[in-house]
Amino acid sequence: MNRMLYLLAVLAGVVAGCQPQNKSASTISTMKSNEQSPAAAAANAPKVVKSDEEWRKTLTPEQYRVLRQAGTERAFGAAYEEFKKQGAGTYVCGGCGAELFSSKEKFDSHCGWPSFYDPANAKNVLTRVDSSLGTVRTEVLCAQCGGHLGHVFKGEGFPTPTDQRYCINGVSLKFVPASGSNAVKP
Ligand code: FE
Repeated sequence: MNRMLYLLAVLAGVVAGCQPQNKSASTISTMKSNEQSPAAAAANAPKVVKSDEEWRKTLTPEQYRVLRQAGTERAFGAAYEEFKKQGAGTYVCGGCGAELFSSKEKFDSHCGWPSFYDPANAKNVLTRVDSSLGTVRTEVLCAQCGGHLGHVFKGEGFPTPTDQRYCINGVSLKFVPASGSNAVKP
């Protein structure tokens, strides 16, 4: 009887502890079936895998809400104002540090969120169909950790080389200034 109770307790703990993680796994699984062959999906599976508890420890509450729960930061917020001031450099994932975008591809779309017309390092950027909110959009995710970055829109008429707008949450990004530019001194 004691053994039975122990097994039930372990099972309950596993289910409760894995729920957010399962959500992430489900997210990635959907991404695979939507756009990739099983082989390609396996190759693109997130390399940085952490428990929900670990993500909560390493991210700010706002980063966790956006990156791990597909939230959206407030338009024209502090991260966006900071983004507009940043000079030459690289934008890496706020969750895992993977290189995602370059300042060379940023542009001012006046939408209230950091905008890029092309990812600097495409292998670290994944997209998938997002049918939430009653519309079909293309979600942008970090390929290394599966973190939600934002959405990409096409054909809006912006005068950029790709006519794409990667509309990215500022808190999902970390700016790394190019050496010799506006690098922060220790
Ligand atoms: Fe990442």
